[in-house]
Amino acid sequence: MEDRSRKMLINGQWMESLSGKQIALKSPATGETIAHMAYGGREEAIMAIEAAHDAFADWSTTPAKERSAYLLKIVQLMQENKADLAHMISLEMGKPIREARGEVDIAIDYVQWYAEEAKRVYGDLVPSNSKTKRILVVRQPVGVTAAITPWNFPLSMVTRKIAPALAAGCTVILKPAKQTPGSAILFFELMEKAGLPKGVANLVLGNAGEIAEAFTSSSYVKKITFTGSTEVGKQLLNQASHQVKRVSMELGGHAPFIVFPDADLEKSVEGLIASKFRNSGQTCICTNRVYVHTSIIEPFSRLLKQKIEKMVMGNGLREDVDLGPIVDRVGLQKIEEQVQDSLDRGAKLLSGGRIRTDGELGKGYFYEPTILVDVDDEMRVAYEETFGPVVPILPFETEQEVLEKANHTPFGLAAYFYTKDLGRTIRMYEGLEYGIIGANDPIPTTVQAPFGGFKESGIGREGGYYGMEGFLETKYVSLGF
Ligand code: NAP
Repeated sequence: MEDRSRKMLINGQWMESLSGKQIALKSPATGETIAHMAYGGREEAIMAIEAAHDAFADWSTTPAKERSAYLLKIVQLMQENKADLAHMISLEMGKPIREARGEVDIAIDYVQWYAEEAKRVYGDLVPSNSKTKRILVVRQPVGVTAAITPWNFPLSMVTRKIAPALAAGCTVILKPAKQTPGSAILFFELMEKAGLPKGVANLVLGNAGEIAEAFTSSSYVKKITFTGSTEVGKQLLNQASHQVKRVSMELGGHAPFIVFPDADLEKSVEGLIASKFRNSGQTCICTNRVYVHTSIIEPFSRLLKQKIEKMVMGNGLREDVDLGPIVDRVGLQKIEEQVQDSLDRGAKLLSGGRIRTDGELGKGYFYEPTILVDVDDEMRVAYEETFGPVVPILPFETEQEVLEKANHTPFGLAAYFYTKDLGRTIRMYEGLEYGIIGANDPIPTTVQAPFGGFKESGIGREGGYYGMEGFLETKYVSLGF
């Protein structure tokens, strides 16, 4: 990366941290240092908040068509720089380059969608009870928005927040995850190239706790939008409550994947692989628990084993790789502990179950694709989010039983089921307490649909026109004459 690509962007200036502190960014596939990143904290966050505050008056009154034009210019620049963006995603967080290209495509789709949505922020004229009054309802940007994003989709999680915020007329400050500042920096370079006025979009890197504290304690910041773990989300909710700030939370999940006896076996196994092994199992909507009807457990598990043992593991930058590394050592250890816990409690390994230490793989954080059978509800994999390529298979007998088990979790992000029965399909999608349902579909994410969770998986929705809501306030004007 060139020199300025290690820096933050505050009020139109690329800058090092005020203390000069940097941290090394390492490849999870090779352990090599990619770059040294500026590492700031509270003071830089305050500078960025002030810049966003100063820029708000102009940006929020810029005609929607002009805001849209900026976003369309960003779309064009992202399209021209697709290869660099995908390379950076794969380099810094490890996902296979084919998946990284897919992420760039959807990241662009979000910007394109909200470029269009910017022009459709309508109000209402509601019939009044009086001849001399009119009831107007207008939508206005919520104000300065602070966004905090995770590493697992380092570009699309950023554009899914920043594009609707800018479209609505908000100014923003982003703090990306420490593992993936590079993708955010490239995106901010493109926003700068598109001519976005200074202070409208600011990038802060560094100490998450300090930066979040600056965001939540500033009266200038009106909205916090967060994607990450439920644990950090709860802390932020707490902090944001002091000023009753607007919040959107996209948090953790524990997705059930249910295979009924009438399901197409081949399609359900393929679907499970797509849902479970994408990004090496490190997505919030990844399958965590697989419920298979007792009558088909044996053929289902056999077919799954045959298929996953053919998957190619390695450096995500290689074209032939299906499974990249786990993002860091902490993530790798958590997977190992969860698998060991299952084995200690009586589960059996059907496939995998090891950290790879051989050859090139030994330099990175690689965990084999793994199948556990004889899993029960007491094992950690059955209730704790597994961010890794581990499939725990649990048996079930009846529809009612599996529905209750699937809902027996504080999470409610995504749930999947495979069946050909229409009545069962309707009963299941109505009964599942989840924000996203994949009925015979393992990859439900798409730009026009609302993405978000029930229960402890979050508050609010991103994507489609629903994604504008969180960046708008509703104002009622009673107009007498
Ligand atoms: P995380 O630890 O919660 O980190 C997410 C972001 O929060 C990072 O930018 C992180 O900064 C920051 N952060 C850490 N501690 C903080 C604090 N005390 N105050 C404020 N911010 C803080 O989550 P993760 O492990 O990176 O990401 C995986 C989690 O995200 C999973 O639970 C996954 O399910 C969830 N996720 C949810 C969705 C969704 O749409 N629902 C999408 C993707 C991921 P640092 O990196 O600097 O620590």
